[in-house]
Amino acid sequence: MQSGQVFIGGAWRPAASAQTYATINPATEEESAQVALGDERDVDLAVRAARKAFEAGPWSKMAAAERARLIWKLGDLIMANLDEMARLESLCTGKTLFDSGKVEIPFAAEVFRYYAGWATKIHGETLGLREGAFTFTLRQPVGVVGAIVPWNFPFLLASWKIAPALAAGNTVVLKPASLTPLTALKFAELCQEAGLPEGVFNVVTGPGAAVGMALVRHPDVDKIAFTGSTEVGKQIMREASGSLKRVSLELGGKSPNIVFADADLDAALKGALTGIFYNKGEVCAAGSRLFIEQRVHDEFMSKLTERAKGLKIGDPMDRSTRMGPVISRHQMDVVLAYIEAGKQEGARLVVGGGRASVGGGKGYFVEPTIFDGVSNRMKIAREEIFGPVLSVIAFKSVDEGIAEGNETTYGLAAAVWTRDVAKALRAARAIRAGTVWVNAYNLYDAALPFGGFKESGFGRELGSAGIDPYTEVKSIWVDLS
Ligand code: NAD
Repeated sequence: MQSGQVFIGGAWRPAASAQTYATINPATEEESAQVALGDERDVDLAVRAARKAFEAGPWSKMAAAERARLIWKLGDLIMANLDEMARLESLCTGKTLFDSGKVEIPFAAEVFRYYAGWATKIHGETLGLREGAFTFTLRQPVGVVGAIVPWNFPFLLASWKIAPALAAGNTVVLKPASLTPLTALKFAELCQEAGLPEGVFNVVTGPGAAVGMALVRHPDVDKIAFTGSTEVGKQIMREASGSLKRVSLELGGKSPNIVFADADLDAALKGALTGIFYNKGEVCAAGSRLFIEQRVHDEFMSKLTERAKGLKIGDPMDRSTRMGPVISRHQMDVVLAYIEAGKQEGARLVVGGGRASVGGGKGYFVEPTIFDGVSNRMKIAREEIFGPVLSVIAFKSVDEGIAEGNETTYGLAAAVWTRDVAKALRAARAIRAGTVWVNAYNLYDAALPFGGFKESGFGRELGSAGIDPYTEVKSIWVDLS
């Protein structure tokens, strides 16, 4: 694989800096690859290539059905290269091979297939407004899209942007997170193999402040699609205001997972565990605040702590592992500092609380950690930790559970667990979040929109709503008089 180069205008080339940097395997702390250290010069070349492909190249002139076939082919090629894609993803992120190979890379392929279907179905409207006029709208591509993605679901979150952008006829420059660029580079190879016209998809690797910001500032980028932290999202929005480029932001979360006393508690238990420990808690929608109705609190907690202690931590490439290392030494230090803050603020540590002793002292492994007796005022309940740390809060009534669940600046996701349909629907309406699961956690579908309320961002990905940010509506008025 061409990991040491950037992919621009259908060709591989060294970064303008002529330098590379090392990516690290978080399970072993060893170097996994040398990657091109891109900067604003590479971004400029990539944007020019994307602009040319958009304005003059075959992409914008191609029949939608042909675009659809190419996008579908990308989905097929991802599946044909599933093992390699999954290994590359696990190598950089520390996520288990099960998660990358059975869940996330196949879901990304599905997203390409889903949006291949949309290429021929994007349409405007005809409006019969008055005699003497023929009025209609067209949905046209926005132009050159700069896609900036984080390290927790590197290829999956890239697919949520690339697939609808291409389906709508845009061209793309992708900036993967600097820690996790390998699947994006492998995908560039697949684009070559599929015969995607040159310049339609480009990848520039390198640091966020240089490569990401250069995309945001570039006058010839029409839209930024960003997933990442709320802090960087705010910075991007401020910077994009200079050129008023379109921006969609999928940001952080501190999602409430609310268990009512009448729930199927065994199912809720599984949901609580996957809600926080899937992908070591490095999930924007992680159910990081678990609200348990007082009446069932003790029974639920004793089962939860027992199950959490039994989670197998270790080598992500081992099929029996349930939790790999967190992404980096920095992230491990951040998570451990939050655990300290939880102890100092008086939360009761009931499971974990430190670095896990696996891997012979190597690797950024953190124990699954649970704090009980947390309140929304504590830092561990307010701030996104992005690690395997659960804050448990007891509540007494339905209204209190919902109100406390809503007590956050974020609004990405939530779940409620109950056998009472009316209670479930009342809670689902009242919770201010982009996704509410009822008796489930962490379920996604290419056809179901995903995105945030409040400081979790705006714009939706997936589903038909996921097409909207990649199109402009044009009104055409033909005077017939
Ligand atoms: P991050 O904000 O640090 O980085 C995200 C991306 O932006 C990376 O590619 C990074 O290189 C780039 N970047 C960093 N600084 C930049 C700058 N100044 N200008 C332009 N680009 C810049 O986030 P992260 O640490 O990679 O990912 C974790 C965050 O992502 C968490 O807050 C998480 O909640 C969020 N996230 C949100 C969703 C969602 O769908 N809402 C999904 C996954 C992750």
